[in-house]
Amino acid sequence: MESTERDALTVTGLRKTFEAENAPVRALRGIDLTVRAGEFVAVMGPSGCGKSTLLNLVAGLDVADEGTITVAGETVTGRTEDDLARMRRKHMGIVFQFFNLLEGMTVLENVVLPSVIAGRRRKIAETRARDLLDLLGIGDKAAAVPGVLSGGQRQRLAIARALANQPTLLLADEPTGALDSAGGAEIIELLRRLHQAGQTIILVTHDQAVADAASRIVTMRDGRIVNSTDTSAGAQEAASTGTSTAQAR
Ligand code: ADP
Ligand code: MG
Repeated sequence: MESTERDALTVTGLRKTFEAENAPVRALRGIDLTVRAGEFVAVMGPSGCGKSTLLNLVAGLDVADEGTITVAGETVTGRTEDDLARMRRKHMGIVFQFFNLLEGMTVLENVVLPSVIAGRRRKIAETRARDLLDLLGIGDKAAAVPGVLSGGQRQRLAIARALANQPTLLLADEPTGALDSAGGAEIIELLRRLHQAGQTIILVTHDQAVADAASRIVTMRDGRIVNSTDTSAGAQEAASTGTSTAQAR
């Protein structure tokens, strides 16, 4: 599979087996997936089919047995730990089901810190963090600690943090899984807006309402991708991409 600059992610022949007590678990059995820049892909499928494993490998949080992963033309597979960490900071914004927030720090500092760690000057990081919090509708909570936020607000903070370094990919594993329906609806609306603004998003979900916001639904079963369907949002996206490509020529 040829990788082009419009591809945010290219995965080829990805395999991962976990050594379990009784028998090895073949979590990924040969995954091929290309995600274009600006796509919003929802990965669905029954529990245990390998969704989180795929996301973790793409994020560089775990290592594949076989296959290659390329993000914005840079290879993720076959890197050293240090190199991977650099790669993650540059390209990946990662959001989990449980928010993994720094509870002892302010909301603002939760978003500033990843940028400072990535080497950005504090003042610039703070400006970006405030803009993000405003964009995500929690700008008035900047000085608060995460503990006072609602579930939906906490997940929005986690997303703000993931976006701090303007990642190539926003990766989320069941981001609405721990939220009530109001909190879930907040996150869906936010994901829609981020997608409209051009953010490439890949998320794992069980929630059909979340998947409905995506431009493509990829279905997995037993470690394989068994279906990939553009939604109506995806059709609109393809149409507008076609127009802009025509204009560029
Ligand atoms: P999903 O996210 O689709 O529910 P996972 O990717 O978490 O599925 O898991 C796929 C399979 O791999 C499951 O059978 C799971 O039990 C197994 N698995 C995942 N992580 C590990 C691990 N660290 N050690 C052993 N088995 C694992
Ligand atoms: Mg999972």
